[in-house]
Amino acid sequence: MDNDRKIRVRFAPAPTGFLHIGGARTALFNYLFARRHQGTFVLRIEDTDADKSKPGFEKDILENLQWLGIFWDEGPTPISQKDIGDYGPYRQSERGDIYKKHIKKLLTEDKAYYCFCSLEELKNMREYQISAGRQAPRYSGKCRTMSKKEARKKLAQGEQAIIRFKVSSQQIKFKDLIRQNLEFDTDLIGDFSLAKVRGKRILPLYNFAAVCDDFEMKISHVIRGEDHLPNTPKQILLQQALNFPQPEYCHLPLILGTDKSKLSKRSGAKPLICYKKEGYLAEALINFIALLGWHPKIEKEIFSLSFLIKEFSLEKAQKSGAIFNVKKLDFLNGFYIRQKSLSRLTELCVPYLIRAGLIEPVSDLKDSNFNKENLIQPYKIPAIKESLSLERLQKIIALYHKRLKKLSEIVELIDFFFKERLDYNKDLLRWKTVMTDKELKNLLKKLIKILLKIKDIDWTRSNLEKILITQAEKLSIQFGAGDRGYLLWPLRIALTGKESSAPPFSIAEILGKKKTLKRIEQAIEKF
Ligand code: GLU
Repeated sequence: MDNDRKIRVRFAPAPTGFLHIGGARTALFNYLFARRHQGTFVLRIEDTDADKSKPGFEKDILENLQWLGIFWDEGPTPISQKDIGDYGPYRQSERGDIYKKHIKKLLTEDKAYYCFCSLEELKNMREYQISAGRQAPRYSGKCRTMSKKEARKKLAQGEQAIIRFKVSSQQIKFKDLIRQNLEFDTDLIGDFSLAKVRGKRILPLYNFAAVCDDFEMKISHVIRGEDHLPNTPKQILLQQALNFPQPEYCHLPLILGTDKSKLSKRSGAKPLICYKKEGYLAEALINFIALLGWHPKIEKEIFSLSFLIKEFSLEKAQKSGAIFNVKKLDFLNGFYIRQKSLSRLTELCVPYLIRAGLIEPVSDLKDSNFNKENLIQPYKIPAIKESLSLERLQKIIALYHKRLKKLSEIVELIDFFFKERLDYNKDLLRWKTVMTDKELKNLLKKLIKILLKIKDIDWTRSNLEKILITQAEKLSIQFGAGDRGYLLWPLRIALTGKESSAPPFSIAEILGKKKTLKRIEQAIEKF
């Protein structure tokens, strides 16, 4: 690495879609590289495609980068339309004059030319080349020899054109920080397009705009996905033609699904916002994304952004495809959820419970009617018209703190606490298939009898556990079933309507005696 050159890197997304895991990985690696080398991380919005670029997508990209903790040093600010940094504007749509200056130079020096071939003609050219056995069809060069006078005449007549770069025949060699020495034969490239001409307007295209901006923004290292590798020789040719210094290149490995195929929607290519909505934590995603193509020197899987800033090095990045394994993401997320305090976890879960309609805030904190009482009973349970204290909600969530893999799961895990009546099939209550309806009903009645004997003051998880286990063992001998499930299974189902849940004693304690008995009665009513 050239030590004299200041490290300046950029993440340059096109706002034509939401931020995906792949984009977030490129942003993170650029960010870490900049931080590690006291460099500058630039965010550049590549919105040259006016039809596909949408402000909503740009907003999504900016918001999600910030949510992940990937803050840029230069780029469009999220708050105002102004730019921060000395090399702005940082949206390509606002940099028209810069591109005009460079394209004029290329045209004047005969390094580029106007092409008037219609789409139809280009298509035919392509098809002809494919039928003639050319594997990588390229532009035939038809307009290369058109005189400037003729081109000007056509332009004056309002003909649509594109500006093409004259590709010279040569071998392009460069060193990629991950892939080492690479070589490309420019004969395979063909005269590629730099910009569209629409009347007086020149609309730059990706390769050209990116090269101009990388130069103008003094980018020292271009770190991006391997899918951009075919663009690199084109960009190097342009840098040579324009006399720009060549940045260092680093192409990150493709992200693959667990079956090693290209990452698809099914295997995890979802917008980042979807992961956020499902309840993945930013810390978990950062940890997960960092591992998509990189590993620390030491055997370690869990690490924070600050650890990464200290340890990250591109030289340690891998060449082969990075496998996107959702199970690993779930494992990491579960880990970070367990690190949260119960009160923080509750705060994080509340929006999911509200969205699912299970609870409602009693009143907005900003509301002038808000009183102290609401701080203690801040929620309502609409289905049973009861209030819910923060303490009680925390107790409920605590039951699942250890097993939660993503925040959204909390809804399905604890919904039964907030319902008047549970919807499940009565057969679920049956522990052993041989049990008749009558036996089951009697068992539930027996359960009520046992629970009725417990005084309100003794209604604690540990007492319930002691009493119910003793009774379960006694009953199992009596019925010859040989296990506690005989009694505890129907209790679990009656209380939760679910085959898997936290221990029924803990649930009974939180529900309280009255509700616990009511749920068992409701189970009996099913017969
Ligand atoms: N706008 C390009 C993209 O979104 C950036 C490619 C590059 O980093 O040069 O893929």
